[in-house]
Amino acid sequence: MTETSRKIGSGQFYFSRRISIAIPSRIWRPGMGFNYTGLPHEFKRNYLPPAVTFDWPDVSKFYDELSGRPIGSVSDLEKWLLDEAEFNAFLHEQRSVRYINSTRQTDNPEFTKAYEDYTEHLEPKIKLADFELLKKYASSPHRSLLPRASHTLDDKRRLNAVRVFREQNVELEKQESSLSQTYLRTMGAMTVNFRGQDRTLQQMSKFYEEPDRAVREQAWRLTDSRALADSTKLDEIYTKMVKLRDAEGRNAGFDNYRDYIFVRKDRFDYTPDDCIAFHKAVEDNMVPLSREIDRLRREKLGVEELRPWDMRVDPDSGPPLSPFEDASGLVAKAKQVVGQVDGQLSGFFERMVSLDLLDLESRKGKAPGGYQEELAEAKLPFIFMNAARRDDDVRTLLHECGHSFHTFLMREQGLPYYNDGANLPLEFAEVASISMEIISGEHYAGTFYNEADARRSNFEEATANVKLFTWVATVDAFQHWVYTHPEHTTEERAQAWVKTFSRFSGLEGYDGLEWSRAFRWQRQLHLFEVPFYYIEYGIALTGALGVWTRYRRNRGDAIEAYKGALSLGATRSLPDLFAAAGLRWGFGPAEMPGLAGELRAAIREYSN
Ligand SMILES: [Zn+2]
Repeated sequence: MTETSRKIGSGQFYFSRRISIAIPSRIWRPGMGFNYTGLPHEFKRNYLPPAVTFDWPDVSKFYDELSGRPIGSVSDLEKWLLDEAEFNAFLHEQRSVRYINSTRQTDNPEFTKAYEDYTEHLEPKIKLADFELLKKYASSPHRSLLPRASHTLDDKRRLNAVRVFREQNVELEKQESSLSQTYLRTMGAMTVNFRGQDRTLQQMSKFYEEPDRAVREQAWRLTDSRALADSTKLDEIYTKMVKLRDAEGRNAGFDNYRDYIFVRKDRFDYTPDDCIAFHKAVEDNMVPLSREIDRLRREKLGVEELRPWDMRVDPDSGPPLSPFEDASGLVAKAKQVVGQVDGQLSGFFERMVSLDLLDLESRKGKAPGGYQEELAEAKLPFIFMNAARRDDDVRTLLHECGHSFHTFLMREQGLPYYNDGANLPLEFAEVASISMEIISGEHYAGTFYNEADARRSNFEEATANVKLFTWVATVDAFQHWVYTHPEHTTEERAQAWVKTFSRFSGLEGYDGLEWSRAFRWQRQLHLFEVPFYYIEYGIALTGALGVWTRYRRNRGDAIEAYKGALSLGATRSLPDLFAAAGLRWGFGPAEMPGLAGELRAAIREYSN
C-alpha cells in the first residue's frame, strides 16, 4: 500500500500523486462506512460463495482448499490459478475498502481500527499462506505448459517470490510497518501557528507561492524549524528501519538490502548499474537545464541569490492560477479535456462520475494526498484527492485518471487478477498516469484556462518535470548509498545526503541553512514508507515524455498506441509494454539528451 507522491523542489517534499492500491465506494456518507453492495459487480464469482467474510477463519478455508487440491494436469493448474485469482481479487478489494475508508475519514476510530486489524493480524497470516500457494505453484510440473503470452511474467514473478521469501522476515516486516505508522503519525502531528491559525506543513506550502518574499521566508523558516524539532526522532526511526531492512536482505541471502529489493521488486529488466547510469545521465543533461530554469527565475524575480523559499512563487508575480471553482467545476472541465483527448477515455470518465467513484474535495478528517485505488473484484477504479482550486489539482486529477483508464482498459480485456492492475509493473503504471497528466495540458486553453494561463500551466509542468528528474536521481542515489553502507552513522548519512543533494540541486542557496539542508530527506515519505520506490518515477517520466512527444506530432497514433499498451495489463515485460506504446525502452544516456532537448524547446515555447 503505497501512497505515493511525486514532487519536488524546495519545500515541495510532499507530493501526492499516487502509486498503489485502491478502492471505492458508492453513495458514501460520513459515518455510513463503505456501501460496497452499491457497486455493480458485473464479474460473477465462480469459486467463492457470496457470503464469504474477510476474517481469518473464513479466509483460511480457501487457503486450505487451494493448497490441498490435487493438480494433475495443465488444465487443473489453469483452473487452480483462476480460482486463486478470484480469491486474491476478493482479498485485495476487502483490503482496499478498509484503506479507502480509513483515508476518507481518519477521525473515525472504527475505520482506523478495521484497517489496523488487517495490517496487524490478517496480513501476516495471509503472507504466510500465500507463500504456501507459491511453493505449490513453483513445484508443479505443469507450470511450463501454461500459455506463454499470459503467464510468462506472472510465472517469473512467482518464482522470484519463492526465491526471496523467508519466514523470519514476516516478523521484521511487521516491525517495519509499525515504524512506518510512527513516521506517519510524527509527520501528521506537525503543525505550526501562522497568521493566527494552526496549519499542517502541507497547508503551509501555499505560502511559498506568495509574491511577498518576506512572507515566503517567514513561512518557510517556521515550517522548517517545526520539522527540525523532530529530526532526532526521525533519524532514530530511519536508523531502525535501515537495520531491519538490511537484516531482511541478509536473511534472504543477499549482500545488502539494495540487491535484495531489486529482486523482491521484480526488476527483471534493469540493474543497480542502470540506475547509476541514470543518475549520471540526469547530472549531465537535466541538471544543466534545471539550473538554466533557475537562472531565468532569478532574473525575473530580480534577486541576487535564490533561496529555498523562492522556488515556487510565480516568477512573473502573477496571482495563483485558478482553474475551477469547486469539485463540480473540476469534474465538468476535466470531462471536456478528456473528451478532446479520446472518445473512449471520455466514456470511462463519465462512468466514474455516474458511479460516484471520485472523492475530490478536501475536508476535515480526510487524509492528505491523493491516490487511485482499484476495486479488484468490481474491476473499477476509485480516485481520492484533496482539491483546493489549484493548478496542481488539475494535474493530480488527470494523473489519477490515467491510472483509472488503465483499470478500465484492462477490464475491457477481462484480465484475471494475476494479469491485472494489482500486478502491473509500477514503472509502467506510472507511464499511464504521467502521460495523461502531461498531454492533457495540450487542451487546457478553452477549458480550465485562457491561452496565457494554459501556457503558464504547461510551463510549470515542463519545468516541474525537469526538476522531477533531478529529484528522482537525488532520492535514488541516496538510497543506493544508504543500503550499501548499512553500518553508517547518522553524521555520515547527513554528509552523504548533502553530497548527493548538491550534485543534482538547482541554484538555491543554503548559506546559514546548512542544518535544514542536511535533514531535508526526512520529509521524503518514500524513504521511510516504500524504500527504493522512486526510480520508477524516473523510468515512467521517460516513457510519459515519449508519449507526449508523439502526441504533439500525431495525436491519434499516440493515443491508440497508449491505449493498446495499457490494455495489455501485466501480461508483458516492461520493455514490451514500452514497445507497445511506441516507445523505445531505456532511461539512461541514450534517452536523456533527446528528452532534455524536447523539454528545453517546450519551456521556450511556453514562456513566450
Ligand atoms: Zn501515479
